[in-house]
Amino acid sequence: MTTSREIRLKSRPNGLPTPDNFELATVDVAAPGAGEVQVKNLWMTVDPYMRGRMNDVKSYAPPFQLGKAMDGGAIGQVTASGDPAFKEGDLVQSGFGWREGFTAPAKSVQKLDPRGLPVQTFLGAAGMPGLTAYAGLLKVAALKDGDVVFVSGAAGAVGAMVCQIAKAKGHTVIGSAGGAEKCAWLKSIGVDHVIDYKAETNLSAALAAAAPDGIDVYFDNVGGAHLEAALNSAKMFARFAICGMISIYNATKPEPGPSNLAQLIGKNIRMEGFIVSHHFAMMPQYVAELAAWHAAGKVTWKETVFEGIEKAPDAFIGLFRGENMGKMLVKLA
Ligand code: NDP
Repeated sequence: MTTSREIRLKSRPNGLPTPDNFELATVDVAAPGAGEVQVKNLWMTVDPYMRGRMNDVKSYAPPFQLGKAMDGGAIGQVTASGDPAFKEGDLVQSGFGWREGFTAPAKSVQKLDPRGLPVQTFLGAAGMPGLTAYAGLLKVAALKDGDVVFVSGAAGAVGAMVCQIAKAKGHTVIGSAGGAEKCAWLKSIGVDHVIDYKAETNLSAALAAAAPDGIDVYFDNVGGAHLEAALNSAKMFARFAICGMISIYNATKPEPGPSNLAQLIGKNIRMEGFIVSHHFAMMPQYVAELAAWHAAGKVTWKETVFEGIEKAPDAFIGLFRGENMGKMLVKLA
């Protein structure tokens, strides 16, 4: 490999990103020096959090730089190595997504043992999004026996794992997603009640009908009207794991908060935001449980795949148009 195509951030979006915000460039890829590896990427991920990184604001992840390659999770294969710990053909996981290949210090990539799973699973169900579901449910929401769980963004990478982990642990699950196809899939994987929020005029009424006795846990991927509905249906001492608020990621002005936030008080609700990186220590425990659930047929996953680095911006923009079921991925080789 002597060259790689990469996607750069050309301009900062105002609202929903458009293809004009990105540019495709070709760069040389050096042979690896001592302590370096050269890697050809097989898969890269696009994730909603990357929208925040397109703004020039301080946050938990640094903003993408204009005119520079974007970055994010990727799975690749070593094509040449200057480090004795790696050999040609080794599978590796890295943060050098949004490009076809790269040469980097060997210590900046991690060897991947796929344990019989397709490698791209480690960008989805067996990777960051899956762990987000697991940690958010078990640690942040402190799931306990008998809980009724409501999940928004239920047919996405995180949401579908939340639904199935809660089901595997014996809970009643209500999932909200956009469109009949997504809702049918959720039913097929065991979700007890599905809400097609795009077909509902009154989300609070739809949730109240699905959970007449109320909800104990709300796993929020969406914010906005979903959070408001969850507050209305919350039981006393409900726990809200605030994972994401994708409904406002493209907002061009600050969105008002839920009008019914005061319900936190009377219902003694605990609402807690979290970032998965603080829970990476749970990964081995999660992957072991996932493997057991998968082997028992209790957990499955879907992927929506775009092919080619030039399609990566479309895949990313598609997240905000609801174009994915399960994990949105880009296949690079
Ligand atoms: P998804 O796979 O769920 O993809 C995005 C989905 O969000 C779309 O398919 C769409 O589904 C839905 N969506 C898009 N725009 C809107 C909108 N305006 N209103 C309602 N739904 C919308 O993404 P992920 O599973 O990767 O992420 C889900 C959430 O979790 C995001 O908010 C993300 O930022 C957050 N997250 C947080 C992490 C953390 O550490 N806290 C880690 C990982 C993710 P539909 O068709 O159903 O509308």
